[in-house]
Amino acid sequence: IVDLKAVGKSFNSADGAPRTVLDNVDFTLREREIVALLGQSGSGKSTLLRIMAGLVSADRGDVLYRGQPLYGPARGISMVFQSFALFPWLTVQQNVEIGLEAQGVPRAEREKRAEKVIDLIGLSGFEGALPRELSGGMRQRVGIARALVVDPDVLLMDEAFSALDVLTGERLRDDILELWEAQQISTKAILVVSHNIQEAVMMADRVLIFASDPGRVRYEMRVDLPRPRDADSEGVRTLVDE
Ligand code: ATP
Ligand code: MG
Repeated sequence: IVDLKAVGKSFNSADGAPRTVLDNVDFTLREREIVALLGQSGSGKSTLLRIMAGLVSADRGDVLYRGQPLYGPARGISMVFQSFALFPWLTVQQNVEIGLEAQGVPRAEREKRAEKVIDLIGLSGFEGALPRELSGGMRQRVGIARALVVDPDVLLMDEAFSALDVLTGERLRDDILELWEAQQISTKAILVVSHNIQEAVMMADRVLIFASDPGRVRYEMRVDLPRPRDADSEGVRTLVDE
């Protein structure tokens, strides 16, 4: 669905010298797959995700979405952030509807679609709540509902679970995997950035390890285990230990 060809990105560092963050990255996100991206802090994972979301442009190379060059945020690509990035003064319902407003979807349809996804993600009854009245796990559910309400093809998750305590994060992750497996969400491919190898192996069909200096895929592992996966099962433990 998304192709990156020889993508490069540099930033000016504090001393003014350009620093290459991504160098010659080739990567394809395919239909019906979940890919996890692991790598050291600063290796360019978030930058790669932002480029795929059309929030940042690449300096070199091509980014294609369904074969067409990506020039900015695309309708079919949604992103979930580590920090939730909710509007604190808007209710759950309003936060979720935001994405549809930008697309000019009429009010009645916005309400209907937001309610459906709020229900799917387990937030029924909290439509009128403000973010500060919710727990961290519920806030991230709002972030995910907002990403899903536009029926995206591609869901990009940048450390979406790492601000949550372990159990809350696992529950949310399992809920998303369940929706994915049951095809209750339109999403055709998911890319997750994580610092946690076990989380990556629990979720992904492919795990990519990103190396810093300069950012580039150094290692790829296929995870041929059926979902749902059990963190204590032999297969997961073997892969995590590898
Ligand atoms: P982490 O695991 O800590 O989230 P990351 O792999 O997501 O790290 P990025 O956030 O992509 O890494 O950042 C990669 C490098 O690019 C870092 O050195 C960062 O300082 C630099 N960088 C990212 N965005 C910018 C920017 N807008 N301006 C200047 N430098 C930037
Ligand atoms: Mg990051």
